[in-house]
Amino acid sequence: MTSFTLHGISVSRGIAIGRAHLVAPAALDVKHYLIADEQVEAEVQRLQGAIATVHKELQTIWNDLPKDSPAELGAFIDVHALILSDPMISDVPLDIIRTRYYNAEWALVTQIDELSAQFDEVEDAYLRERKADIQQVGERVLKVLTGSATTLPARDGGESSVHMIVVAHDISPADMLQFRDRAFSGFITDLGGQNSHTAIVARSLDIPAAVGMSNASALIAQDDWLIIDGDAGVVIVDPAPIVLEQYRERQAYLLRERKKLGKLKKTPAVTRDGTSITLLANIEFPDDCAAALEAGAHGVGLFRSEFLFMGRTGYVHKLPSEDEQFESYRRAVVAMKGRPVTIRTLDIGADKPFDVAEQTALNPALGLRAIRYCLAEPQVFLAQLRAILRASAYGPIKLLIPMLAHAFEIDQTLAMIEQAKSQLREAGKKFDPLIPVGAMIEIPAAALTLPLFVKRMDFLSIGTNDLIQYTLAIDRVDHEVAHLYNPLHPAILQLLWNTIAIGAKAGVPVAVCGEMAGDPKLTRLLLGMGLREFSMHPTQLLAVKQEIVNSDLGLLIPHTKKIMRAYEPGVIADAMEQLRLM
Ligand code: PEP
Ligand code: MG
Repeated sequence: MTSFTLHGISVSRGIAIGRAHLVAPAALDVKHYLIADEQVEAEVQRLQGAIATVHKELQTIWNDLPKDSPAELGAFIDVHALILSDPMISDVPLDIIRTRYYNAEWALVTQIDELSAQFDEVEDAYLRERKADIQQVGERVLKVLTGSATTLPARDGGESSVHMIVVAHDISPADMLQFRDRAFSGFITDLGGQNSHTAIVARSLDIPAAVGMSNASALIAQDDWLIIDGDAGVVIVDPAPIVLEQYRERQAYLLRERKKLGKLKKTPAVTRDGTSITLLANIEFPDDCAAALEAGAHGVGLFRSEFLFMGRTGYVHKLPSEDEQFESYRRAVVAMKGRPVTIRTLDIGADKPFDVAEQTALNPALGLRAIRYCLAEPQVFLAQLRAILRASAYGPIKLLIPMLAHAFEIDQTLAMIEQAKSQLREAGKKFDPLIPVGAMIEIPAAALTLPLFVKRMDFLSIGTNDLIQYTLAIDRVDHEVAHLYNPLHPAILQLLWNTIAIGAKAGVPVAVCGEMAGDPKLTRLLLGMGLREFSMHPTQLLAVKQEIVNSDLGLLIPHTKKIMRAYEPGVIADAMEQLRLM
């Protein structure tokens, strides 16, 4: 096979070299053909074998569930095992092979379609939802039949298993999480933008990745050799030996550079001219605190609590209980040993639905997302607020509210926090009565009406990922407009500058917790704008710190003012280059 190159969007640094592991799309879309009489028993056995394999897979997943996983996850696997054992799935398709001479995949899909149609008729909403479970079980069996495994081998710590690159049409943020404990060295998807939540989770795994590769999953075959150049967003398929050699050298060089960065772990984050900068971590789960501490974070600047609520497939709207949430928040704050933990309240919706199959809004990014959902579902919100408040008895916690835009939303939110506090008082539960409350500034309307916010809030945190999405009117998930996603657009720079300046004037601390804060190419610019708190994935922290310790604010601030007066992209690019050399 000849070598070819694919271009997409870079989401994560570094170089990965490995073999392709295709993750099949979830569609029940299979080849249909009739088999000969003498093939019937072999085909029956093929299907039985696949069913047995899935039984084993489910058992392995069940055994490997982390101790702290939500109880529903175990129940969900049990439901799948039960469905798989049901004669409707384990026997009827075999009869279809024997009587209608369908190939195994076709026989299975025929029966699943039949069952799905029956479920559509069911009145009971809960039972109707079980249709999704049946389809998922069917997909698992199909993936085994078609030879595209559903699960990746577990990380065994050995070198040999690490060189696998996941290739998929798309991966939901929740599915991306399952790759956390799996052995693979890179990933490639057809869809996705640089700051889609899938990309953000991938970045937190710190492995080279490229998204928005259009039809990579169709062009790449299982086991093809691949190189991902994560810095350039380029994938080379079946590279020539000389190309492979060059990339191996570059990979080794990058590894050496990273090792050097490790030396900065204990170095204080102070600029050359003596200003201390606060470096915070973005986390998705309490377990991520270990990485945050290891990187030397001063605290957690963004705990994306919605990840506790997502991916509970088959249990739509079955949310984590107050106690379960409390336990997660408490674990995070205890793990951080006295360093502050900023917990963002449920930012569900847009590309982070409770369940991908449940996404119905026409324009989810503009829909009932984040605080809008929470104010519409006060019982869900109050339960979360109580859980966070209770955890605040165990260490310093700050509450961060996403997607605020209106004064009445701020006021209603603050009133609900007070309500949660009085409920806890009545119940005799301890909490920090002075818990600081902050707002995400991530809707342009908020960035343009800051007096409303600084008057009511203890701190602000700029969510540049959404601020860019909403200011430039480009869907952060859509790779077709990814080239327009530009943090250096003067409109973004103006909003950032304005927010930092107004916060400083009002004495309200301002952080940036969007991906801009973790991009070392932007560190000097943000410092020059006056930013003193950066929150990012722990994996980015040392690279950003390196920029900080090499910066001189006395030089950066006047130069940044010049950038702020520029509108032409060429002028901004030149000024950024000068900033880099200062
Ligand atoms: C942001 O929008 O910049 C942000 C930090 O939140 P999220 O990426 O989770 O939307
Ligand atoms: Mg956001």
